[in-house]
Amino acid sequence: MSNKYVYLFSEGNAEMRNLLGGKGANLAEMTGLGLPVPQGFTVTTEACTRYYEDGKVIADEIVDQIYEALAKTEEINGKKFGDLENPFLVSVRSGARVSMPGMMDTILNLGLNDVAVKGLAKLTQNERFAYDSYRRFIQMFSDVVMEIDKRKFEDILDEVKASVGAKVDTDLSADDLKVVVEKYKALYLKEMGVEFPQDPKVQLLESVKAVFRSWDNPRANVYRRMNDIPGDWGTAVNVQAMVFGNMGDDSGTGVAFTRNPATGENKLYGEYLFNAQGEDVVAGIRTPNPIADLHKTMPAVYDQFAEIANTLEKHYRDMQDMEFTIERGKLYMLQTRNGKRTAAAALKIAVDLVNEGMLTKEEAVMKVEPKQLDSLLHPQFNADALKKAEVIARGLPASPGAACGKVYFTAEEAVEAAKDGSKVVLVRLETSPEDIEGMYASQGILTARGGMTSHAAVVARGMGTCCVAGCGDIRINEEAKTFEANGKTYKEGDYISIDGSTGNVYGEAVETIDAAVTGDFATLMGWADDIRTLSVRTNADTPRDARQAVKFGAEGIGLCRTEHMFFDEDRIPAMREMIVAKTEEQRRAALNKLLPMQKADFKGIYEAMEGRPVTIRFLDPPLHEFLPHNDEDIAALAKEMGLTFDELKGTVESLHEFNPMLGHRGCRLSVTYPEIAEMQTRAVIEAAIEVKAEKGYDILPEIMIPLVGEVKELKYVKAVVVETAQKVMDEKGVKIDYKVGTMIEIPRAALTADEIATEAEFFSFGTNDLTQMTFGFSRDDAGNFLDDYYAKKIFESDPFARVDQVGVGKLMKMAVKLGRETRPGMKMGICGEHGGDPSTVVFCHNIGLNYVSCSPFRVPIARLAAAQAVVMGK
Ligand code: PEP
Ligand code: MG
Repeated sequence: MSNKYVYLFSEGNAEMRNLLGGKGANLAEMTGLGLPVPQGFTVTTEACTRYYEDGKVIADEIVDQIYEALAKTEEINGKKFGDLENPFLVSVRSGARVSMPGMMDTILNLGLNDVAVKGLAKLTQNERFAYDSYRRFIQMFSDVVMEIDKRKFEDILDEVKASVGAKVDTDLSADDLKVVVEKYKALYLKEMGVEFPQDPKVQLLESVKAVFRSWDNPRANVYRRMNDIPGDWGTAVNVQAMVFGNMGDDSGTGVAFTRNPATGENKLYGEYLFNAQGEDVVAGIRTPNPIADLHKTMPAVYDQFAEIANTLEKHYRDMQDMEFTIERGKLYMLQTRNGKRTAAAALKIAVDLVNEGMLTKEEAVMKVEPKQLDSLLHPQFNADALKKAEVIARGLPASPGAACGKVYFTAEEAVEAAKDGSKVVLVRLETSPEDIEGMYASQGILTARGGMTSHAAVVARGMGTCCVAGCGDIRINEEAKTFEANGKTYKEGDYISIDGSTGNVYGEAVETIDAAVTGDFATLMGWADDIRTLSVRTNADTPRDARQAVKFGAEGIGLCRTEHMFFDEDRIPAMREMIVAKTEEQRRAALNKLLPMQKADFKGIYEAMEGRPVTIRFLDPPLHEFLPHNDEDIAALAKEMGLTFDELKGTVESLHEFNPMLGHRGCRLSVTYPEIAEMQTRAVIEAAIEVKAEKGYDILPEIMIPLVGEVKELKYVKAVVVETAQKVMDEKGVKIDYKVGTMIEIPRAALTADEIATEAEFFSFGTNDLTQMTFGFSRDDAGNFLDDYYAKKIFESDPFARVDQVGVGKLMKMAVKLGRETRPGMKMGICGEHGGDPSTVVFCHNIGLNYVSCSPFRVPIARLAAAQAVVMGK
């Protein structure tokens, strides 16, 4: 039997999301619940995948099934495509498994042609309405499906308006619109070389193809990469009978949420427009009315809607985002889905739903996207600084948080400026899907137009980026790259600050302060901690970072990179002395200068961690990184050190390496200069003994030897560590426990993990280097070509951000297994950048690591992801 590629709404349900896409599955579910849904059908995601497999054609059997479903849908709706009496019109929408901005725009009024337009005029007794719908359809089809520049259509419209002296579109009469239609069709013929398709079936198939194509457009690809959505999921296409919100003042269309998507408040929230169609509400061109007003103007419809909203929320046990249309006083539901929300709203809703008895705690932790927490973990405005700052404009508080940065007026310029390290606020009249990368690159987004459900607002909330929308107080001059507010002109590169929680805009940089985990956030994190089995540590090199991480729930330090401590201005001279030393004696003298500084650092970190485990990694980078490189600096240093210029220059040159990443670094340094490991061991152990005596904390230092690929390297360095530690403990007459372990960051270490585990007491996966060496990609240079890899579909995500589970992951699994064969129950963690990436955290849980370690700001994200890993595994 052939595959089923097309389902009527009455044939599906919410469980079929993978096949029908989110939108299609929910339309089917609403149909099953008996809600007023205009009927239609869904072409499956498998049809999309097949379209690509077949070389971008829709197979005959799929076409047949589409026509079959169409015939049935015509019958259900009692209308016929292209009919003079009762024409059937449909909308065509994309709908992937998860909602994906950047995909194809909706096509409305499909089915209109020279005959059907007359039928529509007759049916509605409104010729103007019919021809306005027809001209909109031609424009939409030409733009979205055939990619003819929509400005050419707008020019025609403006021309006709001017010729009859019409100021706005609504001044045009039916006859004027007929002229527009003829001109539009002529433009289509000129651009495409064929007539505008009159056959609705052709219109439909072309539109279905356009939806499939849009799955692969650059915007969709960027979105997928940012959100870990696999390219082979494909999108479904929903074909639904049209209902009209623009049939007069008893018609309208709107978008509403069962709870407030910005704050989580349990109150119906949304907007609608009378006499409007589809995208008018979200396009941000007309300013919509709050949903509560519908209660006054159409109380019965409002009550029905509120009841449906309630039913849907109870049914899905989550906050719903719904689209509806009122056609001549009758309510229709066009869509429902779990609503996108800010991180703060996500936390409040999850906690409230547990308190309302709708969700278990396990279910609640699944309701918050770990990456979203990021927006709550970053600075907020300093209240005092904020009081002093002058508000220059006010807009809608569309997505909370504080942002301060330089103004840029286009997405491209925002991306460029952010690449150069600037903090950026993107200022636009309104945003569109093309702006997505610029929105990602920005600290905040400010738009002059649009409501709370405008593109900017919805997308910013999804990304957790601060956004002030609909700020009519600013006048943007896009060409001059300036905006005016409060009598002053702000130009590109000027600092402004925006507050997405109040809608305030400040014409200056306002100081920000760190965030804290309190309230609903703390409650949900408490539940996550009860559920998770994976520990979460932090990568921290300073007491300040360590304290911050503890506030965010870190249970230890998984990586303290000791070299960072040597780059300090007051330390680098001693470090340089150590490097250029000619004899062991000279080197020891320099190391003796470094010892007290290093010991003080470790004491600070131990104190900040209050007895939690601390993994200290010994010196890792190639030594020449610490040296001066230009002649001027070399001369200055030579003078300081009492060397001749030539002597020092010679040393610097002798340390030059062609490929430092694979050069004299990591444990190789201690193999050559064991006295470095001696000094570091002494600092680690003396600091632990002193902090124990002074503060009473039992410190368990974990000494980590980097870049081991051969067990004998580790054996050699470990012997130095053990001997030194013993010496220090004997001197002090105090015994402390410590461990010596290694990083697994060289493929050979993973391959021989059983041997390495004979010496190593713990493993920590250094997935930055492991990724670098497994792929053979330089971690410093890969950024230059990875974009091409995404564009050419070789990679879907950055292997330096999200662990490549297939290759690097295989090495990790192997190392876990081999290591524990030698040393049962051996403690293992990860400390590469990947340790804070939610999908990697889940992977680490699944392969049996004991902890992940990540930057302080990602600790709560990792805690939540670790809890989700447990729930997913059940
Ligand atoms: C690693 O390689 O993953 C790691 C944590 O070490 P570094 O980034 O310091 O090389
Ligand atoms: Mg490394």
